[in-house]
Amino acid sequence: MLTHTTSTALFGMLMLLLLCLHYFIFPLHEFIFIFPVLGYFVLVAWGSSQINSNYHLTVLCQSKDVTSKHIALSFDDGPHETVTPLVLDWLKKHEISATFFCIGKNIEGKEALLQRMHSEGHIIANHSYSHSYFFDFFGSSKIKNELSRTNEQVEKLLGSKPALFRPPYGVTTPSIAQAVEQLKLTCVGWNVRSMDGVSKNQEKIIERVCAKIQPGAILLFHDTYEQVIPVLDATFQHCRANGFKIVSLEKLVKIKPYV
Ligand SMILES: [Zn+2]
Repeated sequence: MLTHTTSTALFGMLMLLLLCLHYFIFPLHEFIFIFPVLGYFVLVAWGSSQINSNYHLTVLCQSKDVTSKHIALSFDDGPHETVTPLVLDWLKKHEISATFFCIGKNIEGKEALLQRMHSEGHIIANHSYSHSYFFDFFGSSKIKNELSRTNEQVEKLLGSKPALFRPPYGVTTPSIAQAVEQLKLTCVGWNVRSMDGVSKNQEKIIERVCAKIQPGAILLFHDTYEQVIPVLDATFQHCRANGFKIVSLEKLVKIKPYV
């Protein structure tokens, strides 16, 4: 598995070798230096932007057991004042346990919603405190503060400290990897992204989600857009028609959701 540490070491050795050749054996054309630098930056950009690359850290994106037709639902960016209760009602109606990756600042003023999630058997996980547009540029101590702040909020309200973290925007960096390791959290991604926060075309969202459902899948939705309910209805119908069972993330990937 190609990781950031390995590729950085290989890149460093290659550059050193080229410099030695250039200065001690025969002069090289400057283009010879540009290609490895470009290649390295493309690799880092790819590894950082692909949640399932395991480039900076290990991220759970699906179950290893692909023999059972089990999948899990996850919701990001809440709690939301109006949409989260609709999602909770829908989950209750269908007796499904889901995972909510909550933003710390969104919990403030909506503590009762968090308590409802917990009492109805859902997992509450960490999705940073600010979900800042600049989160991926933060240093590890600032990221650590964000994750600790959200975990403390949840622990104060529910008595349980989340062990699961999903990076905002699905981007990973060396600083995120360091903070996650220091706080002993487990990073959780997805392998079916609904794009419900990006696309307004409900049919396309449904088509996309249903086409990608496979045994062991972790589905990503947002409990911040009302259109999630008809998408959930269609997903549920598809699962029922094709023999898929929706289980909790805890059961799907066999992890402890709280420290
Ligand atoms: Zn998010």
